[in-house]
Amino acid sequence: MIQSEPRSAAFSLEHREFRDDEFWQEIPGWKDVSREDFGNYLWQAKNSVKKLKEVKEVLGERISDKLIADIEAGLRIAPMNIRITPYVFALIDWDNPIEDPLRKQFLPLASQMLPDHPYYLADSLYEDVDSPVPMLTHRYPDKVLFLPLTTCPVYCSYCTRSRIIGGSTDAVEKHTYGANAAKWETALQYIEETPQIEDVVISGGDAFNMTAKHIRHIGERLLGIDHIRRIRYATKGIAILPQKITTDESWMEAFLEMHRLGQSRGQQVVIHTHFSSPIEVTQWSKNAMDRLFAEGVIVRNQAVLQEGVNSDENVMMSLTKSLSYMNIQPYYVYIHDMVPGCEHLRTTLGQGVELEKQVRGITAGFNVPTFVCDAPGGGGKRHVASYEYYDTENGISIWRAPNVKPNELFVYFDPLCKLDAAANKRWSDSASRERMVFDAISKVDSELGASEREKISERLEKTYHVSK
Ligand SMILES: *Cc1c(COP(=O)(O)O)cnc(C)c1O
Ligand code: SF4
Repeated sequence: MIQSEPRSAAFSLEHREFRDDEFWQEIPGWKDVSREDFGNYLWQAKNSVKKLKEVKEVLGERISDKLIADIEAGLRIAPMNIRITPYVFALIDWDNPIEDPLRKQFLPLASQMLPDHPYYLADSLYEDVDSPVPMLTHRYPDKVLFLPLTTCPVYCSYCTRSRIIGGSTDAVEKHTYGANAAKWETALQYIEETPQIEDVVISGGDAFNMTAKHIRHIGERLLGIDHIRRIRYATKGIAILPQKITTDESWMEAFLEMHRLGQSRGQQVVIHTHFSSPIEVTQWSKNAMDRLFAEGVIVRNQAVLQEGVNSDENVMMSLTKSLSYMNIQPYYVYIHDMVPGCEHLRTTLGQGVELEKQVRGITAGFNVPTFVCDAPGGGGKRHVASYEYYDTENGISIWRAPNVKPNELFVYFDPLCKLDAAANKRWSDSASRERMVFDAISKVDSELGASEREKISERLEKTYHVSK
């Protein structure tokens, strides 16, 4: 498996050095951009790369026609559009873009993509199923997920909500919605009328794409509900647009007001962010974090485990140490969700278990991320090693979720590219793959009755899609 390489990141002090050169001036289109302009969130937003044409314009000779064609073909089958801030775009190593971890996250190449897993799901986590009212998922007893908008300052090509985020693509028709206070009322009322809810995740979409007015509207409304004890604004922003924290005074003032309002009422207002690679960490991120830390704001990180991005133990240790050093708590590392267009980025569950073992002990226990698998079909987040059964040969793991759906079993599947030829042959036939799933389930629940079997069979049927 992984292992064997020297554990260089474990004792290295590299995480204390934050990149602070004029790296963006290496990009032909931005060679004359000053530090002041680059540090301004408006300049970043205005110069974000949103079309393939702009990739070409900004890079000029630094990108080959072959790579452009590869991206173009990738975008034809990808579920996400492109949107990349100059900050992230300039951190990509354009001398070696094929293997670059940031390029892999934001600019898909057709030559690297793989057919989706036979049991992939557009809504892998059943967010739309476990939804009592629009824009809200209520799965766990005391916490809810609120999705007030579906736009972001960057679009990740592996987004778990690619079914709604970031506008329609050639491959996927979607109903993206912007921030709209009038439409939030049903969800806010549900939260108000459901006393067991104490915790609200405000996600989307990205809180950086809400105006100051919207930040206040949602904050005041939620903090005005006595049973709400904790709210989290989710934004990938600190990783991809840290300049907003240091230069968008109106947004910051609104957020800090909500933070202080919460403090005065005994309610926690925090930020959850999304760094996946230590390359995203620079002096710009550190400056943003220094400001948030000085204001007493807690920031936690949720990363997605991805092949060739952070699947190496040294990379994961380095990410963990960098985040910890600038006072971001590495909270979760997710095993990749089974959504379309990212089969090439998924790892096996076993890789996640091994990585968790390698990373634990690297730093303070509260800064060691919990590795979780968000069980497809709405089982919720489960610790990677807590599966009931794992058939590593066929890449099938079975899960229970006692506090979520105590009478159901959940199934996660490893990517087929990680299985051997014999397993791939078994997977190529629909009857044989259903048999493998039932065999795995019967290892956990030998009593599996006929009706339960039928239900699962129906679920597998529904989720089966012909590969591209
Ligand atoms: C992740 C998630 C939450 C928050 O869970 P934590 O483990 O507390 O971070 C709440 N609701 C839904 C539907 C979620 O997916
Ligand atoms: S920032 Fe989050 S919601 Fe937005 S595209 Fe990326 S993963 Fe999806």
